[in-house]
Amino acid sequence: FDPRNSKLRETKPSASLEAAQLARDLRAQGRRVISLATGEPDFPTPDHIKQACIDALAANHTGYPPVPGIPALREAICEKFRNDNNLNYAPNEVIVANGVKQIIFNALAASLEPAQEVLIPVPGWVSYSEMVRLNGGVPVELPTRYEDNFRLRPEDLEAAITDKTRWLLLNNPSNPTGTIMSEQDIRALAEVLERHPHVMVLSDDIYEHIRYGDVPYFTIAQVSDAMKERTLTANGVSKSWCMTGWRIGFAAGPAALIEAMRVYQGQTTGGVMHPGQYGAVAALNGPRDFMDSNLAEFQKRRDLGVKLINETDGLECHVPDGAFYLFVKCADLIGATTPAGNVISTDADLTRYFVEEAEVVCVPGAAFGMSPFFRISFACKSEVLEEALLQIRAAIGKLE
Ligand code: PLP
Repeated sequence: FDPRNSKLRETKPSASLEAAQLARDLRAQGRRVISLATGEPDFPTPDHIKQACIDALAANHTGYPPVPGIPALREAICEKFRNDNNLNYAPNEVIVANGVKQIIFNALAASLEPAQEVLIPVPGWVSYSEMVRLNGGVPVELPTRYEDNFRLRPEDLEAAITDKTRWLLLNNPSNPTGTIMSEQDIRALAEVLERHPHVMVLSDDIYEHIRYGDVPYFTIAQVSDAMKERTLTANGVSKSWCMTGWRIGFAAGPAALIEAMRVYQGQTTGGVMHPGQYGAVAALNGPRDFMDSNLAEFQKRRDLGVKLINETDGLECHVPDGAFYLFVKCADLIGATTPAGNVISTDADLTRYFVEEAEVVCVPGAAFGMSPFFRISFACKSEVLEEALLQIRAAIGKLE
């Protein structure tokens, strides 16, 4: 008995969530597996945010919340866009959902006609293509290049746009590469988009505050009022405020699109967990000094990870400017033979070998639309990262 419809039969499960589950399953069998698969900070949610949620519970803010978010949170989101991004939005131009994941899904569900195309630079986050397919659209992958540090070239964007293109998805900083597009990079893409006014842009800025050094931040809605009018800017508290389990994300965009997303959300999930929204208000309006110490810790791990990878024969990676991932090139290992006599033909073969031989779980590049690579997350303790990468190095040393 297969309960799946034709859409689900074509849908791949989230590779990063599956990899994280594999690590949990192997641990349950008593194996000491290290997971470098998880895309979430290992720091707890700051106390002042937890307290705001506890206070909201005590004050009985436990009824159904307004579908687009409580007014205080929508105000705080408008403030955030004003202060961080120099973008002015009114409360009816913002919406709150269960994570950026639901924001993106709802935006596509509310706007895509069957067979319309969505342009996705690759490597890109595992869920984009699947969400497009689930909503009857056609994902069109736009390959980038390792030599360009995975920046989308304007000419590649131009060549991919057709009459059927509905959306371009941008993710800055990028998961899995950590690349940050500069203002100049983004303006060059906007110049192409200006020639194609039927294309809307969804900018997934969830890693906005996870940047190393003094890399400035620019998001495409800042280019011009015309660009802002067809851009949905998604952001959230999951990564920067260490609130992945709260499931709160938000977006700002043209009122008509936000209204369409509100209608869709009202018929599917409704408003986001009520007391949690008070926590998000405290997050957005509260102090951010904890982010500096988290970032300093992430940066130490990043530098350790980059050094260990680039000192390992057959592996190579760039130094990412943002997010907490390394996207590691492993082309030199394709074709190698394991001690058991199996040939490593793909990056998925390699990550499987890492599980067996090194007891380390990573996500193959294929899941992000680019091979042969694999992604590691450095959102784990330095000692764990070092141990895992040394075990990977030892496993690679046994390949012939
Ligand atoms: N967008 C990207 C690029 C991500 O990497 C993730 C999480 O891994 C998300 C969105 C999901 O964010 P949220 O927790 O807000 O749903």
